[in-house]
Amino acid sequence: MVGTVEKAPTVVHGACPHDCPDTCSMLVTVEDGRATKVEGNPEHPFTQGTLCGKVSDYLDRVYSKDRLLYPMRRVGPKGSGQFERISWDEALTTIAEKFKATAAEYGAEAIMPCSYLGHEGLLNGLTVGDAFFNRLGATVTERTMCISCTSTAYLMTYGPTHGTDPDTFRHSKYIVLWGCNALSTNVHLWPFIQEARKNGAKLVSIDPVRTRTAKQSDWHLPIRPGTDGALALGMMHVMINEGLTDDDYIENYTVGFDELKARVQDYPPEKVAETTGLAAEDIVTLAREFATIQPSVVRIGVALEKQAGGGQGVRAISCLPALVGSWRHLGGGMLQAPMWPFPIRWDVVHRPHFIKPGTRVLNQWQLGRILTHEVPLDPPIKMLFVYNCNPVTQAAEQEKILAGLARDDLFTVVSEQFLTDTADYADIVLPATTQVENLDLMFSWGHTYVTLNNAAIAPLGEAVSNTELFRRLAAKMKFEDECFQLSDEQLTMEVLDWSAPVMEGIDMDVLKAQGYAKLKIEEVPHAEGNFPTPSGKCEFVSGMEVDSNFVLPAFRQGYETYEPGEPVDPLPTYTPQKESAHSNPELAKRYPLSLMSAKPHQFINSCFANLPKHAKLQGGPRLIIHPEDAQPRNISDGQLVKVFNERGTFQAPAMVNDMTRQGLVVAPLGYWRKLNPAGGTINATTSASFTDMGHTAAVGDSLVEVALASAQPSFGAQILTRLFSLFTRDKKEKAVGVKTKH
Ligand code: SF4
Repeated sequence: MVGTVEKAPTVVHGACPHDCPDTCSMLVTVEDGRATKVEGNPEHPFTQGTLCGKVSDYLDRVYSKDRLLYPMRRVGPKGSGQFERISWDEALTTIAEKFKATAAEYGAEAIMPCSYLGHEGLLNGLTVGDAFFNRLGATVTERTMCISCTSTAYLMTYGPTHGTDPDTFRHSKYIVLWGCNALSTNVHLWPFIQEARKNGAKLVSIDPVRTRTAKQSDWHLPIRPGTDGALALGMMHVMINEGLTDDDYIENYTVGFDELKARVQDYPPEKVAETTGLAAEDIVTLAREFATIQPSVVRIGVALEKQAGGGQGVRAISCLPALVGSWRHLGGGMLQAPMWPFPIRWDVVHRPHFIKPGTRVLNQWQLGRILTHEVPLDPPIKMLFVYNCNPVTQAAEQEKILAGLARDDLFTVVSEQFLTDTADYADIVLPATTQVENLDLMFSWGHTYVTLNNAAIAPLGEAVSNTELFRRLAAKMKFEDECFQLSDEQLTMEVLDWSAPVMEGIDMDVLKAQGYAKLKIEEVPHAEGNFPTPSGKCEFVSGMEVDSNFVLPAFRQGYETYEPGEPVDPLPTYTPQKESAHSNPELAKRYPLSLMSAKPHQFINSCFANLPKHAKLQGGPRLIIHPEDAQPRNISDGQLVKVFNERGTFQAPAMVNDMTRQGLVVAPLGYWRKLNPAGGTINATTSASFTDMGHTAAVGDSLVEVALASAQPSFGAQILTRLFSLFTRDKKEKAVGVKTKH
């Protein structure tokens, strides 16, 4: 073109920001200021140059016509999604005046932030607003929806160790994926598993649902939901009583074996078979193989914890590798979330010194109860500030959240990339950048690499990064503290302890040159114990004092004190589901089916569910129901059903399929409520109760009933669901976007 000089394309290092353990290293191609390609970084040893199907078209998200690009003010009823554009100055002035007026009339605790893992970055992630809200004196928000329970249980056993490095899975000979649908939720671990299998490893999947991963495993054990602890205790019964344990390892590197040995006598395989729904001989075989085929390793998924007894279940599973000495070997042991060695400076992230002693702490998992005054509060919440999350679809007791957000006396601010179900209820909406528009530094809960994300392009429209948002708010509130003056570049140097031993050889120049760097950790960290526990050993009887209200410091927002709950048994045990025929027979008569939410293949939580390509590939909402449960309810494939309990109702076409167990119905998570023509989403029926430790969401501990809905979809729609069901039943699944490199 005459008169213009076209610049050569540049390639910028980036990192996926989504709530996923893989934290992929990305390459973003930029031409004339526009991002034209996003691809995986082929040099990265773990993510190996591939992005999953969710993110491979990330630019569809960045340049979507539906992006929020300007601040807006609500002009219609709450929930209507009617807004008009305003300036940033007007938006910030309105919000700041509301902060001041609310604090003056009710006290600053009437203001509540609400954020989660819509972004995982150390700069722009779930903690980016903590310093601001702590300085404001707002209610401190506890965010323990995921992994807090699992982590507590794991740390009770082993302390904060990365455990088995996922890079070493290729050396394993016996791999147990326990509650982990790796092909959909941890896809970059798969090539390492496949390499191990090529070398003779056996892959076992323990999951109530025949997932993509379960289908591709050598052995699938369809366990009854919430009974994982019983299975692990039963396995230990076999290992100990058949003399399959590594007595030298137990003697030198563990504590509490005698107590554990006595405890597992209550869990003979025959009894465990009744509890778990598995065959006794399978329990025995699993125990024998895990003990004798070394190196054996167990990879646990996040879903395991989401039960009333989820923590004790993970505690029991955690004991298995130490009992049989798997930790001695390269590729043996256990992988929980290898995030513990990242030297994150939580004091910089949260700025806890701003928190006045006695400031109220509320857990946002119970947002519906909080906003509807079911939890009596003085002062009540009068102002809600939401960023990096979409609680209407992602938190339990959806109908309470909607009722709370509809309150006339609640002022809600939402910072978002799209007009979500939650943003529809905002008084002010603020436009947020996507990952290619901002700088960030990423840790990972699925591998042990630090990853740098450079801003590849300028922010679109008037979108701002979360760091910039809180800088602007702080300036408007005249907060002059130094932390609110820090640039993003300065923050990258502050949020990590760059002098920590694990950062040896890693500095910003290295990250800028290659985009990532591996922490300096040991490949076989516990061949001789050396666990970071109070005793320095694996603790079958835990020396960590934990009660039901205890939350690990990494999951607190800097608060120090809390009201202790019920003591947690320091020895692993099995706790049945709270909502089950065993624990609550009356409830189970009315609502006889267990409900499980499943992470969809094409969405990350509720991200991407609004994008046409992802929605089409994922297919519409559905309820997977076993034929034996469908038949007495006169339900067939494709018919619209309502799923209900006392908490609420959602509707979806039935998919009658034996991929789920009898007694268990499964619905994918993440669909937007306003995009589900049938009404509601799964979290209309899930419970906002907590797990036994770590205040995690016991979302998998919910009973429902299912019946035909009064209105039925068209014949064509029913045929489509039926075809999808057949396709799902028979298809040999393939990993999307994954290759084996090593
Ligand atoms: S697997 Fe997908 S969602 Fe996960 S980090 Fe990689 S690109 Fe992101």
